[in-house]
Amino acid sequence: MNYKHITVAGSGVLGSQIAFQTAYKGFDVTVYDINDQALAKAKERMAELKSHYVADLNASEEQLAAAYSRIAYNSDLAAAVSNSDLVIEAIPEVVQIKTDFYKKLGEVAPKNTIFATNSSTLLPSQFAEATGRPGQFLALHFANEIWRNNTAEVMKHPGTDNGVFEDVVAFAKAIGMVALPLQKEQPGYILNSLLVPLLEAAQQLLVREIADAETIDKTWMVATGAPLGPFAILDVVGINTAYNIGLAKAKATGDAEFQNIADLLKSEYIDKGKLGRATGEGFYKY
Ligand code: NAD
Repeated sequence: MNYKHITVAGSGVLGSQIAFQTAYKGFDVTVYDINDQALAKAKERMAELKSHYVADLNASEEQLAAAYSRIAYNSDLAAAVSNSDLVIEAIPEVVQIKTDFYKKLGEVAPKNTIFATNSSTLLPSQFAEATGRPGQFLALHFANEIWRNNTAEVMKHPGTDNGVFEDVVAFAKAIGMVALPLQKEQPGYILNSLLVPLLEAAQQLLVREIADAETIDKTWMVATGAPLGPFAILDVVGINTAYNIGLAKAKATGDAEFQNIADLLKSEYIDKGKLGRATGEGFYKY
């Protein structure tokens, strides 16, 4: 892996974190977004990250200043990728927006540039053709609060070149991530393939009145040594998100139990302002 210059496309929640972490680890970064207004917002997000790096990583003023000095901003796609070794895409989770973006990107990027998508729910094979360079395309999926939740799931689609895959795994390590290679496509990657069924099963036990949340969590924690049980995890995720997932699942499957779960989350938690850790109370008080 001899990447030097990285472009991050989309500078929202995740894009700004990916860009800053990459610069913090010594790479030159160009941030691309749709217009100057979006880039102004990106600069604000970038400035806000500083306090986290100080609090969580003990970052020095020199390290932070050096990181900021390595970041450039550009709303012209061709200019933003003109000397890019790797483009990391973190634009909205909307199929049409991503497809249009990859078509444009494939036309203007240098022919050796690698493309990686940070998509949480869409598979890379869906966009491989639009990139015009399927062998040089794959998924590189980060977690929110990348500087401390430092997982990077690196996932091939069937056409990804092995050398490209290995280089992106090496890049993920170089920016301080724990690189987690996935040899085949898997919706939800590894983490959500494990976590979603656990959280769902816990909510089913609760709504069936088998046991209360604390007992369910205690069972999981004592038996496996895990530091958090499923309901404590839901408090971190946020009850609104859990509610939206429950509703979507009820609609998609027609399974009344998911509707019961959503109803319970709404009446007992959301309507009472108990939205999880962020509001000081969810299943637990903080
Ligand atoms: P966001 O809405 O915070 O940011 C999206 C950014 O993309 C905005 O700055 C927007 O101006 C920009 N944008 C819109 N259209 C664009 C285009 N055509 N070209 C370039 N930029 C464009 O979104 P987010 O939460 O950062 O999510 C971005 C991607 O990262 C999604 O694919 C999502 O699945 C993934 N992701 C999000 C999280 C998370 O916790 N938020 C975690 C992992 C992965």
